[in-house]
Amino acid sequence: MSGQHHPSADILAAYASGVLEPGFGLVVAAHIEGCAQCRRHVASYEAVSGEALREVEAAALDDGALSRVMSRLDSAAPISFTPDRRPFVERLTLKPRKWVAPGVWVAAVDTPHARTNRVYVLSVAPGMPTARHEHSGAEFCTVLKGAYRDELGLFRAGDFAAADHDVNHQPVVQGDEACICLFATEGRLQPQGLLGRLAFAFADV
Ligand SMILES: [Zn+2]
Repeated sequence: MSGQHHPSADILAAYASGVLEPGFGLVVAAHIEGCAQCRRHVASYEAVSGEALREVEAAALDDGALSRVMSRLDSAAPISFTPDRRPFVERLTLKPRKWVAPGVWVAAVDTPHARTNRVYVLSVAPGMPTARHEHSGAEFCTVLKGAYRDELGLFRAGDFAAADHDVNHQPVVQGDEACICLFATEGRLQPQGLLGRLAFAFADV
C-alpha cells in the first residue's frame, strides 16, 4: 500500500505521543503500517519525546521520578502490531456484519475505544451510491481495500482521510471491487437517506 493522502503532522504527533483515543489510533495505525513516510515522521516525533525525557533526567529528579515518567510513557505507547502478513482488514476482529442496503455492510470492530465513539468497517460495492452525510464530530478513515472518490480527491488502499463537522461529502466507489474502509467516528452521524439506515445499524454497535 502506498498512500497519497496522509494524516496531518498534528495527528501523527498525537499518535506518536500516545494521546489519540485508541479507536482513532487504530485508524492511524492502519495507514502507518503501509506508509514508510509517516512511519519516519512518527519515529522522529518519538525521538523528540526521548530527547525531552533525557532533559527531565538531567534535571536531577528524585530517584523514583524518572521511572514513574517511564512507566507512564510505556502505558501510553501507541498501538503496535506484531508482524503479520495478512491484510489489515483480516487482522481486525469484527462483530457480525449488518447489511444496511444491497451491497453495503457495516461491522463494528472489537477494539478498545471511548464509549461515545464508533469504530467500524464499512464495505460498499461498486456502483452503490453512498448518501451525502455530515458529521457531528471528528471522523478518521483509512481505506483498506478498493477506492472511492469524493470532493477531496481519489482515495485508494492505504489512504487516510480526516473529517470534522464542517465536511458534508458524498463518496463514490471507484473501480470494480468493493471499497472497504476502517472508520473511527466521534458522536453520531447526521444521517440523510441511506445513512439513516446505517445509523440504525450503529444503534447497538
Ligand atoms: Zn502516510
